[in-house]
Amino acid sequence: MESKGIIAGTFESELQRAKDCKPGGDIMPKKEKRLLFTRQFLLDRRSLFPKKLPTYRILDWSFYPTLCEIYMWMDSIIKNSARVVTGFDIGRSYEGRLIRGLKLSFKPGRKTIFIESNIHAREWITSAACTYLIMELLYSRDPDVRELAESVDWWIIPVLNVDGFVYSHEKERLWRKSRRPADPHCMGIDLNRNFNFKWSLRRCADPCSNVYSGPYPESEPEVKQLVEFINNNIPEGSIKIYVALHSAAQAVLVPWTHTKVPPQSYATLMYVAKAFVEALYPRYHTKYRCGSSANILKMFTGGSKDWAYAVKHVPIAFTIELPGRGSPKRFELPETMITHVGAELLDGFRGMIKAVKLLESQAVVTGTFTSELLRAKDCKAGGNAISYTKRSLILL
Ligand SMILES: [Zn+2]
Repeated sequence: MESKGIIAGTFESELQRAKDCKPGGDIMPKKEKRLLFTRQFLLDRRSLFPKKLPTYRILDWSFYPTLCEIYMWMDSIIKNSARVVTGFDIGRSYEGRLIRGLKLSFKPGRKTIFIESNIHAREWITSAACTYLIMELLYSRDPDVRELAESVDWWIIPVLNVDGFVYSHEKERLWRKSRRPADPHCMGIDLNRNFNFKWSLRRCADPCSNVYSGPYPESEPEVKQLVEFINNNIPEGSIKIYVALHSAAQAVLVPWTHTKVPPQSYATLMYVAKAFVEALYPRYHTKYRCGSSANILKMFTGGSKDWAYAVKHVPIAFTIELPGRGSPKRFELPETMITHVGAELLDGFRGMIKAVKLLESQAVVTGTFTSELLRAKDCKAGGNAISYTKRSLILL
């Protein structure tokens, strides 16, 4: 089915192309295309093959981009910054979409920060702010940002829950879960309840719930492949910071999520969380809370941050909850807020990495655990500190 300059696609190949966000064009003979559109109509898949070819907007952080727009932007920066940026993918989602990420590495031998974003489909501000962060890390001329960018290797997945994200753009704005059928009547699994750490302790077994944990830990392809990717591609022990980006609680959350009892390195975690919160405050006077997930939000199990902390032994593992709009439209933050939130996120990371470096440079800081704990809980600035263990010092 090939003639000069024209490549005929099959329905399946076109479907895959659309799912992978590959640039299309008028590549099929008209007759073929008509057939395809008829079939597509019968299958009710019109959204994948709109009659007009899709137009993709160039990311300028004035709108919430679709998955294809994000992927095309990623392709352009991989091409334009090949010396620093490498594209990767962790595999395909349940519906067959590639789950893609970027690695930014300015210098060899750096430790790793891993950022996973938009695991909850409707939290669009996370991928928007995440791409803003990447753009600044690559192109900002601010010496502070340059130092931040070059001090670690950044592994970033802007959209982990690709199926849910596309669904939230095309069908249901407030969709949260994945798109694998949970049972014959209900759709989707909460991917941030599916990680394998104390999974069964506080799992949600109702397939129709918005926080359904799935049938067993790592049952979902998105989660399983993320875990395998990290295990197989990033040297054990080199991830020093893991961030799960969410919205809209406006908070930095540290382990644990399954219990209100603080983890062993709670004070260190809070010291770094506080540095994040304080660093972002001056720009727009936005106040983030900080504390453990179980204390600030609620208790559950199967979240990625606790898995990173407990199973992968990542010393600094955070859930960063970006701001929302307030009830009842918490996830529908106006587009005009994207650059605002993105800039604050960058500020927060600057504070965070500085704090981690400071911890590294100070062998022992004296103080008491209790006083520091209280101070950290309130996110108060303060000079008293604690005795840190050797383990928690080796961060970057
Ligand atoms: Zn979330």
